[in-house]
Amino acid sequence: MSHGTTADDQARTAQDILGRDKDPHLDEDNPFEAMMARFDHAAELLELEPGMYRVLRHPEKQIITAVPIQRDNGELEVFTGYRVIHNTARGPGKGGMRFDLRVTLDEVKALAAWMTWKCAVVNIPFGGAKGGVVCDPTTLSVRELERITRRFTAALMDTLGPESDIPAPDVNTNERVMAWIMDTYSMHQRHPVTAVVTGKPVEMGGSAGRREATGRGCMIAIKEAIRHLGLPLRGTKVAVQGFGNVGSIAAQLLEKEGLTIVAVSDVSGSIYNPHGIYVDDAIKWVRENRYLGGYPNAEAITAEQLFSLDVDVLLPAAVENAITRKNAGNIKAKIICEGANGPTTAGADRILEEHGVFVIPDILANAGGVTVSYFEWVQDRMGYFWGEETVNERLNTIMQQSFQAVLSVAQEHSVNMRVASYMLAMERVAAVHRLRGLYA
Ligand code: GLU
Repeated sequence: MSHGTTADDQARTAQDILGRDKDPHLDEDNPFEAMMARFDHAAELLELEPGMYRVLRHPEKQIITAVPIQRDNGELEVFTGYRVIHNTARGPGKGGMRFDLRVTLDEVKALAAWMTWKCAVVNIPFGGAKGGVVCDPTTLSVRELERITRRFTAALMDTLGPESDIPAPDVNTNERVMAWIMDTYSMHQRHPVTAVVTGKPVEMGGSAGRREATGRGCMIAIKEAIRHLGLPLRGTKVAVQGFGNVGSIAAQLLEKEGLTIVAVSDVSGSIYNPHGIYVDDAIKWVRENRYLGGYPNAEAITAEQLFSLDVDVLLPAAVENAITRKNAGNIKAKIICEGANGPTTAGADRILEEHGVFVIPDILANAGGVTVSYFEWVQDRMGYFWGEETVNERLNTIMQQSFQAVLSVAQEHSVNMRVASYMLAMERVAAVHRLRGLYA
């Protein structure tokens, strides 16, 4: 109770506080509720002090900003942008920027908190942040996207910085967007600042292996899980939901390791081939046709069918709320590897646990991306760059060690991997808060 709790607060136990919003039926689709449900559970098991509970649950900073731009037709349009810094106890805020119509403040708050836990799980010296602009990039020209990015970056000048808040790619943003952020920030600073953003093109301070890092991290985590469960690698069947940067690269790397990718999907639909989909061929098809729909060497199935396929590994790599109380019971996979952030609702967790599914939670499974972002930030600050082999080797070490660290907590406390990863992360963040004390 050393963190400024009032007498009234002290009279309440963590359980009292935690009891409030634990019902996962309250709002299954709200990502912030989903994050908090897991956070509450882990806080209870850790017997976290109520004061610390309060500190960790509240984002440090929430920015809502108008992003006015001139459309190509000359009209003015105003978009809404958010940036949330959840916690900076362990280091500067770190986390992606997404451009999507589904962006809300609650979603960005949840994603920012997940970044805090994710960076702590892999033990890199960052806190958590996330940002987004509510827009539909498919209806915007490249120039309009550039204007949105630059105006949003300018609005965040007081927050961004290599020592304070470092964005990266996320849903519908990429290297090109990161280059615009770097350029806008640098123009304001009057000198180039490469370390203000990660996931940049390699030509301008990006890291070798960053683009593949999240998918590679998923592949490493899946191999660890397979080894832990004593399953064979060769012929292990995988279904991948989402065929963007994470899903397509994870599929490609898993195929190289001898696993068989039997199904993949994107917004246009899902495809299935029990003998295996040749991933490079599917990627080529998407490059030429934009979407998977119409891909000739597989049969079309529904999204629901993809989730209930008789596979060994299911890799949700799209957005939140893919696995809910409605479809969790149909899942036959032995392993779920969460390439996306928040693909499973808290309500679905219980069903998966009852069915004995081994879930590699998002804050561990997809941490390969931010791990190589950390390498990129380090390289930018040193001005000395590593080869791809070095990056991949160091990523491999961190992913394997983190998987084993979470597994140990799971075994020690007889909890699943998700609860264990929250416990590990929250304890690491809380430990730094206790060491730093409270500035007043
Ligand atoms: N957007 C990615 C994530 O959710 C990467 C974040 C980063 O590299 O900072 O983990």
